[in-house]
This record gives sequence, C-alpha cells and structure tokens, in this order.
Amino acid sequence: MKRILTGDTPTGKLHLGHFVGTLENRVKLQSEYEVFIILADTHALTTLSETPEKIKEYTKEVLLDNLSVGLDPKKITFFKESEIAEIYELASIFSMYVSHNRALRNPTIKDEISSKGLGDQFSLGFINYPILQAADILCVKAELVPVGKDQEAHLEQTREIARTFNKISNSEIFPDPKALIGRVGKLPGTDGNPKMGKSLNNTIYLSDSTLEVEEKVMGMYTDPKRIHANDPGTVEGNPVFIYLDAFGSDSHRKQINKFKQQYEKGEVGDVEVKKYLTKILNEFLEPIRKRRLDFKDSELDLILKEGAQKTRIIAAETLSELKSLFS
Ligand code: ATP
Ligand code: MG
Repeated sequence: MKRILTGDTPTGKLHLGHFVGTLENRVKLQSEYEVFIILADTHALTTLSETPEKIKEYTKEVLLDNLSVGLDPKKITFFKESEIAEIYELASIFSMYVSHNRALRNPTIKDEISSKGLGDQFSLGFINYPILQAADILCVKAELVPVGKDQEAHLEQTREIARTFNKISNSEIFPDPKALIGRVGKLPGTDGNPKMGKSLNNTIYLSDSTLEVEEKVMGMYTDPKRIHANDPGTVEGNPVFIYLDAFGSDSHRKQINKFKQQYEKGEVGDVEVKKYLTKILNEFLEPIRKRRLDFKDSELDLILKEGAQKTRIIAAETLSELKSLFS
C-alpha cells in the first residue's frame, strides 16, 4: 500500500477550512492508502508564543477533531512529531541541502510573515518550517500529501529536497511526493480574509456549538457595498455564498441558486441568507459533534502511543538507509 502523510499544527482547534482543504480527502483515502497523520507539535513552537500547556491541550483537541470527522484510528497511524527523534536528525541533514535564499523565497513563508504581521520577528525555525515538514513527510516515504492550497509551496520544497538528495547520493531513497489539494483549496475566513486560519481569529470550528455557529454566521462579512436589503449584491467572492456552495448538500442546491439570483437583484436580505447558512452548517456539524463524544481521554493517549511506536520503527529504517550511503 502506498503511504499518505498529512497533519496539522496544534496551535488551535480545527475549522471548516481544514475540512474542505484536507480532512475530507483523508476520510476518502483512508482505506486505499496507509495513512499517517502527524500532530506537528514542534512546528507549533514557531508562533513563539505557544506555551507547552496550550500545545498539549490543542494536540488532544486536534486529534479529536480528526477522529470526529470519521477517521478510523484502527486504520490510521496518528503520532506526535516530538515523539520521533529521527525527524529532527533528518531535518538537520536536509537543511544542509537548502540554500538560505531558497528558504526565504518560499511564497507561503512570505505570505504568512505578512498575514500574521510577523515583521522581522520570526524565528529561524519559522524559515525552516518547510524543511522540518520535508522530514515529516519523507521519514515515512509518503507519496501523497492531502493539504490545502497554502501548503503547495511547502510541498514543492519537499520535492526539491527529495530530488536533490537522490541525485547527489545517486540513490532512489526518497519518493517524489505529490500534493493533493482539497475540493476548496483555500476557504475564506468569516471576516472576508482569503484564508480561514486558526491564528487569524476568523474561524468556525468543527467543535463549535449551534449557538456559536449562529453568532459567527450572523456577524459574517458579506458584500460591503450593500447597505440595504434591496441593494443589488455580489455573490462571487462573498464568503456566505462560498460556504453555502461548500457545505450545502444536493437537497439545498435549488434554494441556494434561488438565493443567489435574488441577492444579485436585491430581492433578499443578508439576514435571511445567513439564517439558511446557519441551518446548513449546523446540520453538517451535528454528526461531527456527536462522534466527538465517542472518544475517551485514555483512548487518545493510547492512539498516540501506538502511533509513535509504529512511526519510530519506519523513520529509523529510513534514517539508517540514508546513513548507510555515507558509511
Ligand atoms: P495556522 O494559521 O496556525 O497556520 P491553519 O489554520 O493554517 O493554522 P494548519 O495546521 O497550518 O492550520 O493547516 C493544516 C491543514 O489545513 C493544511 O493542509 C492546510 O493547508 C489546511 N488548511 C488550513 N486552513 C485552510 C483553509 N482556510 N482552507 C483550506 N485548507 C486549509
Ligand atoms: Mg497553516
């Protein structure tokens, strides 16, 4: 079976963007591939502000988020990045093959420096983020990486590292992993920001209550040019309609299309459309909320313990294969 590696940084709970960007593909492919899901708790340190307690708490939450969308812990290997020492050794070797300029040229790194307002206050580890990620992916020799659009640039760096290493060592030790971008590559935030992101405070979480969803949707950014309900509005690029398209099922399609036409003619108010979106999102989230309750804390610990044991063996094999080239 070919392998998948994907995962999340435990800097917050998972949200609707994660669902359409990557979780949905994880669920779809869990029987066709051997799937590894990393909780990238070392990557989480690059925010420079996350406390160990918070990272621990979010690691559990993110694992629960993954399980709540229907990922089967019997099929999937979940592990914490910090449990696999081989990853750091591999990342350190990989960093020798990446030029300083190349690391700074990564478009997602540049984007995040500006969208997160980091200025020049980012760590060396932040620039090294994609290199550590290459080690996550290549330590299990994954061939497919289901991710959101913002991760495409990082994947490109993983592929460059794998190719460079293979070429220099005249070996075929690493695969050439492909990114699999989700149905919606980048879901916008509730504030109209092009990306919903857990560090951007513009999220609807998979674990939000019905009331929280309602409040967030009612406060959502729509068309800023529209003042009155009878002003013609813009559907394209409007996050309310993007969410309706992304989370409405076939049975909602007719009503969604009707709202779109009415909105463009100024025949329906934002409140009515938002109420419909609230209903759709709460219907979508209900089974996810229920499944979340199925897992006990002790089960989560066991899933991570067994996952680390399995991953450690594979990562050690990869590393000793690499080292044998030098001995
Ligand atoms: P942060 O703001 O801390 O970077 P994040 O919301 O981007 O958090 P990550 O843990 O970095 O979350 O990303 C996990 C996965 O979810 C990645 O594959 C990423 O591409 C995807 N993803 C994150 N946000 C979105 C989004 N808004 N739309 C689609 N995919 C997303
Ligand atoms: Mg991110």
